[in-house]
Amino acid sequence: MARLLRAATWGLVPWRGYCSKSQQGELSEGFVEALKAIVGSPHVSTAAVVREQHGHDESMYRCHPPNAVVWPQNVDQVSRLAALCYGQGVPIIPFGTGTGLEGGVCAMQGGVCINLTHMDRIVKLNSEDFSVVVEPGVTRKALNTHLRDTGLWFPVDPGADASLCGMAATGASGTNTVRYGNMRDNVLNLEVVLPDGRLLHTAGRGRHFRKSAAGYNLTGLFVGSEGTLGLITAATLRLHPSPEATVAATCAFPSVQAAVDSTVNILQAAVPVARIEFLDDVAMDACNRHSKLNCAVAPTLFLEFHGSEQALAEQLQRTEEITRNNRASHFSWAKEAEERSRLWAARHNAWYAILALRPGCKGYSTDVCVPISRLPEILVQTKGDLKASGLTGAIVGHVGDGNFHCILSVNPNDAEELHRVKAFSEQLGRQALALHGTCTGEHGIGLGKRQLLQEEVGTVGMETMQQLKAMLDPRNLMNPGKVI
Ligand SMILES: Cc1cc2nc3c(=O)[nH]c(=O)nc-3n(C[C@H](O)[C@H](O)[C@H](O)COP(=O)(O)OP(=O)(O)OC[C@H]3O[C@@H](n4cnc5c(N)ncnc54)[C@H](O)[C@@H]3O)c2cc1C
Repeated sequence: MARLLRAATWGLVPWRGYCSKSQQGELSEGFVEALKAIVGSPHVSTAAVVREQHGHDESMYRCHPPNAVVWPQNVDQVSRLAALCYGQGVPIIPFGTGTGLEGGVCAMQGGVCINLTHMDRIVKLNSEDFSVVVEPGVTRKALNTHLRDTGLWFPVDPGADASLCGMAATGASGTNTVRYGNMRDNVLNLEVVLPDGRLLHTAGRGRHFRKSAAGYNLTGLFVGSEGTLGLITAATLRLHPSPEATVAATCAFPSVQAAVDSTVNILQAAVPVARIEFLDDVAMDACNRHSKLNCAVAPTLFLEFHGSEQALAEQLQRTEEITRNNRASHFSWAKEAEERSRLWAARHNAWYAILALRPGCKGYSTDVCVPISRLPEILVQTKGDLKASGLTGAIVGHVGDGNFHCILSVNPNDAEELHRVKAFSEQLGRQALALHGTCTGEHGIGLGKRQLLQEEVGTVGMETMQQLKAMLDPRNLMNPGKVI
């Protein structure tokens, strides 16, 4: 029983049916009519199936449906919705594409889910300034399709085709981060509807400069705020020139240690690698099956290099030297776009490949990030701990950033297993903290890492965050129950 209760405090009660009942009463008819008056009747739903779709993300966190879902068409409607909900004391939950992995869209206290996918215009492309303004419904793939013939691209690429403003909200990153940075590095300005409906431009309306020393960094405050401070209704993003030439590569290693040592050596040798991703033997086996690859079942690095033909030749030569010194084998180079896409699609689908090892189960991903010099010790230790835990899972990692995930498949109806997943994840989080790292490199705090956040930033850090939250959201109605 004690175990059950502990699991419940993590939002992980075993599923007797997927959805919990809303903990708040129903919305009054008058309130629903007021929502309809703002966005129009077809853009409001209180249907159970719709609410359930919006009460969970891709993780194993149990569904907590909102009382209503609304689809605003423009920022003015978002502003009026926020003012209405806030005035009536109704929680507000922003919803991007629902691909989050930390339960960020679960409506823990019921309320109104604001689905922003209908606002999907690419508002302004400033090619000469390498920037673009997008509405919250634009996804990363849609933006890159739009940019295809411009010689520009947006590099932040979480495995899922997430919304760019959802990515800003979670402080997302991806496989290109080692070279091009994460969302924190690539957001120049945000338009935010504050909980009471006021409109904020974090860097000033219409501004898209590359650097600034003008006061507090409000953009940085909202990147990674996970919908707890306001609704992001537009993002100005930094674009990059498309690389002249690209080569991808894979190579296998006799041990986890050898693969990670190679990563550290490559970075220390200042090879400007664009992507360097680790998959352990279990992950490779899963990807071979799921994505019809034919790679060795061994700890493996997936790499990519960007630059001129001459620069690429140098980078490849240096990398091959380093990896061979670490006993790498099974080298495979891919220059053609189709072959490269196949490899990276397999890497991006590793989550689904690993979940497919145990049909019917749900996924949970750990997300620690440590200073690069500490990566070999924590990865080797984690591989051993994972084996000893008896859990089903595999390790994949954006190792160039010191960030890796244990993707665990969990039977959501097994309280004991849920408890072991929680214990494993917390222990790993604390190991990362002990090595001067963080409990989350990219997925965010969401529901499950609030205690670890406190340990990470300390009492004064936590109090400062709470004061900021209380100042912007004094009634605690913006996505309550998340982050702090
Ligand atoms: C297969 C797979 C692979 C993934 N790989 C990665 C990866 O490599 N790197 C990575 O970082 N993540 C990864 N993720 C997680 C996920 O894609 C990211 O967290 C993404 O940024 C979530 O975006 P979303 O639009 O789906 O947000 P949602 O899931 O809809 O929401 C996430 C959080 O952001 C808030 N939010 C959403 N939109 C807004 C908005 N406009 N304004 C304010 N708050 C908002 C929500 O309230 C919630 O708290 C992966 C997920 C999957 C399923």
